Amino acid sequence: MMSRTLNKHGFVTDLVEKTPTPFYYYDMDILHETLAEVNRQIGGHPFKVHYAVKANGNPHILKTIASHGLGADLVSGGEVKAAIEAGFDPREMTFSGVGKTDWEIRLGIENGIGCFNVESVPELDIINQLAGEMGKKANIAFRVNPDIDAHTHKYITTGTADNKFGITLEALEQVINHALTLQHVCLRGLHFHIGSQITTMQPFVMLCETINKLLDYYSGRGINFEMINVGGGLGINYNDPDMHPIPDFESYFNTFKQHLQLRPNQLLHFELGRSIVGGCGSLISRVVFVKETRNKKFIILDAGMTDLIRPALYEAHHEIQNLTAADTGTQETYDVVGPVCESSDVFAHDRSLPTTHRGDLIAIRSAGAYGESMSSRYNMRPLPSSVFATRE
Ligand SMILES: *Cc1c(COP(=O)(O)O)cnc(C)c1O
Repeated sequence: MMSRTLNKHGFVTDLVEKTPTPFYYYDMDILHETLAEVNRQIGGHPFKVHYAVKANGNPHILKTIASHGLGADLVSGGEVKAAIEAGFDPREMTFSGVGKTDWEIRLGIENGIGCFNVESVPELDIINQLAGEMGKKANIAFRVNPDIDAHTHKYITTGTADNKFGITLEALEQVINHALTLQHVCLRGLHFHIGSQITTMQPFVMLCETINKLLDYYSGRGINFEMINVGGGLGINYNDPDMHPIPDFESYFNTFKQHLQLRPNQLLHFELGRSIVGGCGSLISRVVFVKETRNKKFIILDAGMTDLIRPALYEAHHEIQNLTAADTGTQETYDVVGPVCESSDVFAHDRSLPTTHRGDLIAIRSAGAYGESMSSRYNMRPLPSSVFATRE
């Protein structure tokens, strides 16, 4: 096939120009390269990567990720169904979440999913009960809250972790002993997930050290785990997507290769979401109006917080590019906003962009994770559509 014509920012020209806006543009070459890099880094190690489906549940994206052999990490019954439909192997699925309902637990057991990441004693007892009623045994891991603050990179030594996720280190032994008395659950391992958009390796090093201590402690008591799951959280570079389209998986996996003392026959599981899909997606939108007030210029887009909520929700930064205007012309300072009736519907404040006009195409970059999957129909807006681009 002939190569496609790309515009100056690397988008397939006819796709961005002919698709009705707003829509998600997925660069499938970047997604394939990202997945190949993950597989390159884990090759030869007892590592298994599960893709965290909540980052992006688009069926075509899921199928692509499944085709590279990853497992799936799920947080709802809907995600279990979507992952099965996309072709993920149920034995390579993990089911996380603090509030799994009975039908969701039954769905997981029925499909023989690999592991429930259990977050509390009541959940443990219900899984045991439901598995018993179904005449089955459910694989479980306990989600441990290791008191590591991934955002400030500081060890938090508060004894009472005020966090809804996981089981505290103090309670863990009792919970494990309780699980070992239950007939219909099989304790396979321990699970951790310390946060998201983590861009230094230090929190992961601390996680490894905590896990090493736990493994020593429990092996001293005759309890060995066949699997350790360190969750996800590896961040992406939102400031420079063109220079860094693929996260530094080498440093990430090396951190665990160097610092985690896995036991013989122990498997290490990962649950990566953002780092797998974040870089491949952009939200493409058209300028509806350029509006000037006394001290500001606004670019008003046909995309809004209903399509990409991260800036409104977390004041997250996304690079914004004008795909129509020449980069060589004058630059001006704009607030880039959506049409939704909320003052938080803002993609960027005081952003320097080429002089922009009604009808220009705008790309909001690094939107592959927690973009489409968090879209809503607020203001009765339609959900954004999606296109899948390859350069060849
Ligand atoms: C959200 C989540 C992930 C994925 O996190 P990323 O930051 O997207 O990698 C992994 N595991 C669990 C339990 C999660 O809730």
